[in-house]
Amino acid sequence: MASRSWVRPAVALLALLGPAASAHAWDRPQGLGYVDGITYFNDAARASDLVTVEPIGTSVAGLPIAAVVVTRAARPEDAIRVLVICRQHGHEPGSERAACQVVDAWRHDADPKTVRRLRRVAFILIPYANPDGAVADRRGNAHGLDLNRDWQARTQPETQAVERAFLEWQPHLVLDCHVFDPQDPNGPWAGEARDLLEAYQRGDHVSDTARALQRALARRQNLTGWPVRESYSDRGFRLSLAHRHFAANHGAPSLLFECGRRQVEPFAALFRNTLAELGDDPGRWKPALDNLRGLRSWRAPERRNEPIALPLYLRPVRLRRAQEPAGSGDFRPPVTVPLAGIAGAAMVTYALVGLLRRRRS
Ligand SMILES: [Zn+2]
Repeated sequence: MASRSWVRPAVALLALLGPAASAHAWDRPQGLGYVDGITYFNDAARASDLVTVEPIGTSVAGLPIAAVVVTRAARPEDAIRVLVICRQHGHEPGSERAACQVVDAWRHDADPKTVRRLRRVAFILIPYANPDGAVADRRGNAHGLDLNRDWQARTQPETQAVERAFLEWQPHLVLDCHVFDPQDPNGPWAGEARDLLEAYQRGDHVSDTARALQRALARRQNLTGWPVRESYSDRGFRLSLAHRHFAANHGAPSLLFECGRRQVEPFAALFRNTLAELGDDPGRWKPALDNLRGLRSWRAPERRNEPIALPLYLRPVRLRRAQEPAGSGDFRPPVTVPLAGIAGAAMVTYALVGLLRRRRS
């Protein structure tokens, strides 16, 4: 057996206690708790026809994974659809708070410009792609596995759930949201002051549409005061990361967003900028993106609103010791060395041999 640790019950208790005494739970400095976030979207879906929530799966520890569909489009097939993956790494908060913040603002925004944009764009938000990790403030899921190294094989229920949501909604664009620590001297982007917007390209080929979309979003991020570096990863890189998987295996323009500021606002700006870019110029983007993905005759599933049933209490999430694969290596199933078993067998053998020797002598 791999060694296990129990997440301090206090973490679960804190998550259970719900929002602190502030106007919005996401105003608190730490990451928005899983229960708070899901409760917010459940309530928003009840109160507003902008929002529907759907359960799309269950984590290793049994927590529901939600997809939140945000649009005013009468028919989702007429909208430009954007899949947003938040908090795939449980210890990288920010994007889930930004999702709540932005959806809350859009719900109450009667500006005809915002309403028009939301008729042309549909967001499929996964606010907690890794509920176990979010509750425990850990990178991996309850198996201790880094989900963002599991996309090639998709061995975990969390990656399988998001894959199902992708296949159901056939998004034109995928945004995968992460956080890096520029203070970490060993981190890949130590000292870097800008966020990262990375696309995947095959060799020297990346679709003009995907590249143009990356540039347009980068330009808007720069203009709104959250400068990004644009980068590409290509054939030489493993496809076990979400954005590379969706780009290489499904042909969807997919961007890895790495925020280096430990703030919510750069994520919120990215979501607002995506809505503005796609919603103001659908004539430019919709046909190009439909062609790229071969989606002109695609028909959307019926939108159904199904509030996420949260457990009455959060059991302590049983975590295996975190297994942090180095760099961009592929996920490999954990090799559990039964050390206790080997030691036990050795002791029993030693005792038996000793016993036999004593009998013979
Ligand atoms: Zn990450």
